[in-house]
Amino acid sequence: MKILVLNCGSSSLKYQVIDMDTRNPIAKGLVERIGNQGAVLTHCTALQEKEIVKTEIENHTKAIELVLKQLVAPETGAIKDLKEIYAIGHRVVHGGEKFAKSVIIDDSVMQALKDCIELAPLHNPPNIAGIQACQKMMPGIPQVAVFDTAFHQTMKPSSYIYGLPYEYYEKYGIRKYGFHGTSHKYVSQRAAILLKKPIEDLKIISCHLGNGASIAAIRGGRSVETSMGFTPLDGLLMGTRSGALDPAVVTYIMCRQNFTVDQMNDFLNSKCGALGVSGISSDFRDIEVAAEQGNMRAQLALDIFEHDVKQFIGSYAAVMGGVDALIFTAGVGENSVSMRASVCKNMSYLGINLDLEKNKVRGEEVDVSQANSRCSVLVIPTNEELMIALDTLELTK
Ligand code: AMP
Repeated sequence: MKILVLNCGSSSLKYQVIDMDTRNPIAKGLVERIGNQGAVLTHCTALQEKEIVKTEIENHTKAIELVLKQLVAPETGAIKDLKEIYAIGHRVVHGGEKFAKSVIIDDSVMQALKDCIELAPLHNPPNIAGIQACQKMMPGIPQVAVFDTAFHQTMKPSSYIYGLPYEYYEKYGIRKYGFHGTSHKYVSQRAAILLKKPIEDLKIISCHLGNGASIAAIRGGRSVETSMGFTPLDGLLMGTRSGALDPAVVTYIMCRQNFTVDQMNDFLNSKCGALGVSGISSDFRDIEVAAEQGNMRAQLALDIFEHDVKQFIGSYAAVMGGVDALIFTAGVGENSVSMRASVCKNMSYLGINLDLEKNKVRGEEVDVSQANSRCSVLVIPTNEELMIALDTLELTK
């Protein structure tokens, strides 16, 4: 049984076809620069053969058309006929408060997704465009929406209501939603399997540390706290996003720099974070190299990131009354040996004891804690696509 997983960004489209018998992708790829000059599709087969197609791709409908053509291409295609696709799973960024779980897409769900556009103006429109394109080109094949926000819908009001007049929550839906839910859910479920314990008995802190980064406290398999908020800007310092700020900083910069609302939004999302502090790059690999060469601002960016991660771990352990497993995932979490080591330094008061030898791994599912560590420290490569495919299969079979 094969599931097509689609992740439509504003100018990009990532896709995978997953064979649910083996749980492995049989084809995957990326379309970039949709709607711009120089659009390109990079398609990879299960044998890791790469096919690059450069052509004009005006919109998401055209992008999906091209992807579907590639999937059934005689030489590099993964399938013979689109009818082999059992169902389609879409990553949808914002489900607001309407969706605490993945859902089969019908007219009422489409309307609800449109209602959420105000909450995620950059993300939800391309998600909707992707769904509509599939409805047109693959009619009759069931489609499922899997939301980044859904996993965090279990938070209590005391965790998600901001210190604003309550009417702003009622009128505008202003509250903490949290993101990366599919990743936090996947790695926390994997952790329970690796530790051979029921997830209901575990207190887990999951650190999704990539270009976008967030931390979640997961008690008994349910998200109880997370660091991203109303939007993905909140929480940790990230590649290009500022993370949490005193809100007064926003209005102060707008006045000093004469920024419009759009300019300020763009500034906070794409010019701040590790890029802004280091002045070098948003890529943690570049920053680590520069720091090793003695660049003080690169070192400062790493120090702030490590400090932020530590601070959230401490506060989430306080909220849950302890922690049984600490998970590192996403680009930095899975690959940066030094970042994991600095975060876990001096954390034995929480039962976190990293084994520095075992920690020398990249991108593998491994327990890197010392044998006597009260809290297990786990590196778990995330797999949001598989999680989306599993939810899609569950709802459609
Ligand atoms: P993601 O958003 O999950 O794809 O993660 C992207 C981030 O992971 C980038 O900042 C990369 O620099 C970082 N990353 C990937 N590999 C490494 C590595 N070996 N060491 C440090 N950071 C890495």
